[in-house]
Amino acid sequence: MIAVIGGGPVGCFLAWKLAEKGKDVHIFEEHPVIGKPVQCTGILTKEIRKIVDIEDEFLLNEIKKVKVYSKRALSEFEVDDIVIDRAKFDKYLAKMARKAGAKIHLNSKFLGYEDDGIIIQDTKSKRKKRVDADAIVGADGPLSEVAKSSGMYGKRDFYVGVQARVKGNFDDRYEVYLGSIAPGFFAWVVPESSRIARIGVAGKKYSSKVFKRFLDVKNIDKKDIISKQAGLIPVWKKVKISKGNVFLVGDAAMQVKATTGGGIVPGLKAADKLADCLSDGGDYGKAVRGIENELWLHSKIRQFLNNFSDRDYDKLIRLLSGVKKELKNRDMLLRSAFKIILKQPRLLLFLRKTYK
Ligand SMILES: Cc1cc2nc3c(=O)[nH]c(=O)nc-3n(C[C@H](O)[C@H](O)[C@H](O)COP(=O)(O)OP(=O)(O)OC[C@H]3O[C@@H](n4cnc5c(N)ncnc54)[C@H](O)[C@@H]3O)c2cc1C
Repeated sequence: MIAVIGGGPVGCFLAWKLAEKGKDVHIFEEHPVIGKPVQCTGILTKEIRKIVDIEDEFLLNEIKKVKVYSKRALSEFEVDDIVIDRAKFDKYLAKMARKAGAKIHLNSKFLGYEDDGIIIQDTKSKRKKRVDADAIVGADGPLSEVAKSSGMYGKRDFYVGVQARVKGNFDDRYEVYLGSIAPGFFAWVVPESSRIARIGVAGKKYSSKVFKRFLDVKNIDKKDIISKQAGLIPVWKKVKISKGNVFLVGDAAMQVKATTGGGIVPGLKAADKLADCLSDGGDYGKAVRGIENELWLHSKIRQFLNNFSDRDYDKLIRLLSGVKKELKNRDMLLRSAFKIILKQPRLLLFLRKTYK
C-alpha cells in the first residue's frame, strides 16, 4: 500500500496517477473536506493543459494579458493563463483519484512513524491507529510533518501571502506590482470575473501591513471585501526529497517557482514523475532534475530581484518590453533564457551591473 499524506492538489493528482497504474493507494487528509481552506490565487500557466484537462467545473477565467507596474513604469505582456476555483480544482482531482480506485480518508492526520508503518489520528475522536505502508509520500504542504518526522525538513524559508476576494469592476487583464509597494516579492490583482478579483501581496516580512497599504492604494472599501486568506509559500532550495521508502512532493518538497510563488504546475509535474518511479521503478531525484533546474533558475532570478530598487524595476520593465514574446512561457524559462538574451543583450549587462 502507498500512503499519500495530504489531499491537496499534488497529493490527489499523485494518487490518481498511481491508482491508474493499478497501485493500492490511500490518501490521508487531516481536514473534513478536500479543497478547504483555500490559500491560493489560482493562476496557472498554459503548461497545466499538458498535465490535466481543463474542465468547466473549476475554470473561472482565461487571461491573455498582464499589466506589470513598477513605481514609474508600466508594460503590458501577453500571457496564456487561466484562473481556477482552487477548492473545485482540488475536488476534481480527488474525484479522479477516487474514480481510478484510490481511497481517501478524511479527518485523518499523520502524526509520525512507528516501525514500518505510520500513525494516523482521527481528528474527531482523537483515536490513533497504526497503518502499514510500503511507501509513504509527504504531499502535506509547506510545513510537512512527513518531512519533519523523516529528518528531511532542514532549514526552510517562506513568503507569507495575504489576499482578499473583492467586489468591483475588473477588466480581463491581471496586474502585478513590483518594487517598494510590496518589498521582496510582489502584489497582484487577479480577476475571477468582471465583478470579483483576488487582490493580494506576498513578502518575507510585514505582509499584513503591506497588504493593508496595497488595499488603500487600490482604493478598496472594506465593505467590498468578500473574504480574506493567508498562507505560506516555500522559498525553493534544493532539499532532500526521498529517504528509504519516504518521498516528498509539491510544497512539502518546496517545489514552487521563486519568481511567482506558483507551486501547482511544478508540484503536479513532480507528482507525475514520482508516480512513474513508484510504479515502474526509477530514481525520483533523477526524474525531477529537469523540474529542479527550472526551479533553480527561478530562484536565481529571485536573488537578482531581491537587490532591486524601484529605479532598477523601472529599467527592467522597460527592457523586458522588448522581449514580450519570449517571456510568454514562464514555465520553460531555461529554454527561453537564451532567446531573451539574444534579443535583448542590454538585459544581461543590466543584470550584471545590478547583481554586485
Ligand atoms: C496566498 C497564496 C497564493 C498562491 N497563489 C498561487 C497561484 O496563483 N498559482 C499557483 O500555482 N500556486 C499558488 N500558490 C501556491 C499553491 O497554493 C501551492 O503550491 C499548492 O497548494 C501546493 O499544493 P500541495 O498539494 O503540495 O500542498 P497543499 O495545497 O498545502 O496541500 C497539503 C494538504 O496536506 C494536508 N495536511 C497537512 N498536514 C497534514 C497531516 N499532518 N496529515 C494529513 N494531512 C495533512 C493539508 O490539509 C492540505 O490539504 C499560492 C500560495 C499562497 C499561500
